[in-house]
Amino acid sequence: MKILLVNPPNCGRSIPEEQYGIDSLKQIFRGEPLALEVLAGNLETHEVRIVDLKAEPSTLQDVLSEFRPDIAGITGVTCEANTVLMLASEIKEVCGATVVVGGMHASNDPEFFNKRDIDYIVIGLGKASLRELVSTIESGGETRTIAGVAKTDPGSRLSYIHRRYCALDLVDEKSPCYDLVRQYRESYTLSSLNLRVGFVATAFGCPYNCSFCCIAGQAGGRYLTHKIESILRDIRLLEDIPVIRLVDANTFGNPDHARRLCEGIQEAGIKKHFLADIRSDTVVCHSDLLLQWKEAGLRSVIIGFEEISNEGLQKMKKANNVATNSEAIRILHDIGITIVGDFIVSPDYKEAQFETLARYIEDNAIDLPILTVLTPLPGTHLYESVKDQIVIHDLDYYTLTNAVTPTQLEEEVFYQNYAGLLKSCHARAKI
Ligand code: SF4
Repeated sequence: MKILLVNPPNCGRSIPEEQYGIDSLKQIFRGEPLALEVLAGNLETHEVRIVDLKAEPSTLQDVLSEFRPDIAGITGVTCEANTVLMLASEIKEVCGATVVVGGMHASNDPEFFNKRDIDYIVIGLGKASLRELVSTIESGGETRTIAGVAKTDPGSRLSYIHRRYCALDLVDEKSPCYDLVRQYRESYTLSSLNLRVGFVATAFGCPYNCSFCCIAGQAGGRYLTHKIESILRDIRLLEDIPVIRLVDANTFGNPDHARRLCEGIQEAGIKKHFLADIRSDTVVCHSDLLLQWKEAGLRSVIIGFEEISNEGLQKMKKANNVATNSEAIRILHDIGITIVGDFIVSPDYKEAQFETLARYIEDNAIDLPILTVLTPLPGTHLYESVKDQIVIHDLDYYTLTNAVTPTQLEEEVFYQNYAGLLKSCHARAKI
């Protein structure tokens, strides 16, 4: 069968820009669509193409007219959900392909996509289930028995078999099809360093359950690690790419696995720079592991500090504390690994809290702070607890840079403070 996998264009909207002319807060996603490359890797008996509309935004019509896929798969995060619906309509109109939607928003709020122009929704890790779906469609079999796949039924509630995700869902023996995005490769760069960057997955899911986070639902709360030899194979496939971003939500979630991977990289003589997402408590409990990874090429870590008070961390169910965050920062500075720190600004912030956060970032010499606004993404615990307070329901604004619940400060003042903090942080950023 002919299968087209579609990465939506950058499409989120910005309240500060539209309402107050503050244009520095718009969220732009960059990087290769690894999830689609992974799916393609398990569809090797079919003719598969990837169209990356983030890299080349207006190419869908031409690809549809020329390729005329039998099946089109679209991925998307929450702020892309409306765009996914528009893409589905366009695909139906141009070539009438069977439309399958997956990705973060489909996994956390599948009911959103129970709409006319969508035929199937893949929920959670889809490398094995999409393959099952395609084979079943091809043979004319019954698709409703495939766990983790919902057949849409607009007007009714979705009914589907929940999938119990396990290591088999990773289909480790099949590598991602990195070749399918070669025409876009030059645009996948780390803008601050102007270096080409490639994505590799080492694990999937997360066992923690932070209230704002939509990762846990991806593998039913499980943490699944790829085999070491599969990860090394994928790193080698990106042979001429100098920087590898390990794109897992929680890369060192299994320290023993992380150690074996590090040893594998060193034994294979792989010389790359690595970036990885790590929890601060992992840094503190396994500082020797970080030292070993530094020797293997770990250049930067992305840490979700989120909040700078224990009360705030508890509210987010982060299962972590400020003292551990401070100790992790000290260890990473000592080792010489740069820190990209995620912080979440609450719509409740007043000027004093913006100032306190600015001071914390400066005092702790966070190399590159990433500041997002606390956003109740559908499907999260946070959404359930604040859904009555939500004033903006248009998912185009769920970019994590808009306040979709009321701000304590006058809204314009809130965004001025937010933009000012971001500007001062980035002026000092060291990467
Ligand atoms: S924020 Fe990080 S630790 Fe918490 S659930 Fe999400 S991925 Fe896991």
